[in-house]
Amino acid sequence: MLRYDLTEIMRNTGMTKTFEVKERPFQDDDVKYVSPVFGRFTVTNGGSALVIRGSISTSVELECGRCLTEMYFPIDGEIEEEYSLSDAEDAGTTHDNLAHVVQDMENEVPPGLFEGRVMNFGVLIRQAAILDIPLSPLCQEDCKGLCPACGKNRNETECRCNSQSTSKPLSRLADLIKQKESRN
Ligand SMILES: [Zn+2]
Ligand SMILES: [Zn+2]
Repeated sequence: MLRYDLTEIMRNTGMTKTFEVKERPFQDDDVKYVSPVFGRFTVTNGGSALVIRGSISTSVELECGRCLTEMYFPIDGEIEEEYSLSDAEDAGTTHDNLAHVVQDMENEVPPGLFEGRVMNFGVLIRQAAILDIPLSPLCQEDCKGLCPACGKNRNETECRCNSQSTSKPLSRLADLIKQKESRN
């Protein structure tokens, strides 16, 4: 499971704990992990902030941006987060003498990351994976894409639609401009 109770850390200022992650491939809301998810995190109670550092490695299934073929893409993601903690004294007014993670202007807490003091690492793993996934992944650098006329995968078959050839420098330029636009 990717949920960890951080109560002990919340209770002790200065405390650091290391968590090892070793999960079988699983399907997340947006990401399909196709190999085990390995990772290591340290969670530190820095007094006013909870500091989470770590890295993950796995691979995910993606669709080539040009020919739509499914492919595996290796992920090496870094995690570095800092969330502000409430004062334990403030928390004491609610008969709970423990600090808890509060919303912070600079470091917005992602939805679902905390349920009370239980942290769901899956949320951080997904975040790191998404950051590592290219906007327009390609199955191969010179993927020829789908034929706009007949829809065939040009990496696999030469079709006879020669109206719009991809090898023209101008259409390559148009592709580049499109890629740039989609990045903005
Ligand atoms: Zn492709
Ligand atoms: Zn064609």
